[in-house]
Amino acid sequence: MPPDETPEILLIRQTRPDVAGRLSERFRLHRLEEAPDRDAFLGAAGPRIRGLAVGAMCPIDARLFDRLPRLEIVASFGVGYDSIDVAEAHRRGIVVTNTPDVLSDEVADLALGLLLATIRRIPQADRYLRAGRWREGSFPLTTSLRERRVGILGLGRIGRAIARRLEGFGVAIAYHGRTPQADVAYTYHDSLLGLAKAVDVLIVASPGGPGTRGLVDAAVLAALGPEGIVVNIARGSVIDEAALIAALQAGTIHGAGLDVFENEPQVPQALIDLDQVVLLPHVGSGSHQTRAAMGRVLTDNLFSWFDGKGPVTPVPETPWTGR
Ligand code: NAP
Repeated sequence: MPPDETPEILLIRQTRPDVAGRLSERFRLHRLEEAPDRDAFLGAAGPRIRGLAVGAMCPIDARLFDRLPRLEIVASFGVGYDSIDVAEAHRRGIVVTNTPDVLSDEVADLALGLLLATIRRIPQADRYLRAGRWREGSFPLTTSLRERRVGILGLGRIGRAIARRLEGFGVAIAYHGRTPQADVAYTYHDSLLGLAKAVDVLIVASPGGPGTRGLVDAAVLAALGPEGIVVNIARGSVIDEAALIAALQAGTIHGAGLDVFENEPQVPQALIDLDQVVLLPHVGSGSHQTRAAMGRVLTDNLFSWFDGKGPVTPVPETPWTGR
C-alpha cells in the first residue's frame, strides 16, 4: 500500500503502549492529547482520519464527528459505550466497536469481592488491625451472606458471570432486565421494584446511559429493606447517588459496595464519610491480563475493518451489514 494510502487513526485518551505499538505497524497514528492546539490539529488532520482508537468512557459526539468527515470506525476500549453517541454514529454510517466478553470474568470476580468485602467489612477489619485496635478487643461481628437472596439488575455477559459465581455461594438468585431469558433457572422479575422487594442484595450489572439513568432510586432502595446491600460494578449513573447516600445515612439500607460513581473521579464526601460502604476507583476490569486482552480486541477491530473484513465486535446500535 503506498504511504499516502496508509489509514490514519486518531488516538483519544488511549494510552496503552501495546495498543499504540500494534496499531503503528499498520496505520499512521496521531494522538489528540499530544496536539499543542487540538482545534488546529482537527482542522488540519481531521479530514484524513478514518478510524478512532479511544479510551474507556471517552466522550465521542456529533461535534467531533463534524471534524472527521472521513471517519469510518470508532474502536472503543471497554464494553460500556454510554459515553459515545452511537445513534449519531449510526446515522452517519460510522461503526462503533467495544471489547465485550474478555473482561466479563474479571469484572464478575471483582463484583463478588466487593459483595463479600461489604457484607463482612473486610477493608474495615484490615484498617482495624493496622490501627493496632485488635489488642483492645475483637473486631465487631458483621452481617452475613448466608440466607440472603441476591438480585441482579442486567443479566448480560457480566451479570451471568456473577450469577454463576453466586451459585457456588448457595444463595437464591433472581434478576431483572427488559426481557426474561429462557436458558437460565434464576427467578425473573419484570420490574426492578419487584426484584428489590424480593431480595436483600442488589447487584447492578446493566449498561449506563439514558435508558438506565437513576433506575435504582429511593423506592428501589427502600424495597431492599434495612438489611439491604447494593453493589454497583456497572455505571454510577444507574443509581441515584443522592438517594443512595440518603438511604445509607438514614439506615434505610445496610451498606453498599461501589466500583463506579456518577461523576468519576469525583466521589461525594458524604459517601467517603460513611463507614458501611466499600469504595473502589473503577477497577472492575483492571488487571494486566484483562486490560491487555481488551487492547487486543480493540486493535483486532481496526485491523479487521481496514482489511475489508468488517468489525469483529460492533455494538448492536451500529450493526455491520457489509459494504
Ligand atoms: P450486556 O451483555 O449488554 O448486558 C447488559 C444487561 O443489561 C442485559 O442483560 C440487558 O438485558 C440489561 N439491560 C439493558 N438495558 C436495561 C434496562 N433499561 N433495564 C434493565 N436491564 C437492562 O453487557 P455486559 O458486557 O454484561 O456489561 C454490562 C455493563 O457493565 C457495561 O455496559 C459497563 O457499563 C459495565 N462495566 C463496568 C466495568 C467496571 O470496571 N466496573 C467493567 C466492564 C463493564 P435486557 O436487554 O433484557 O434488558
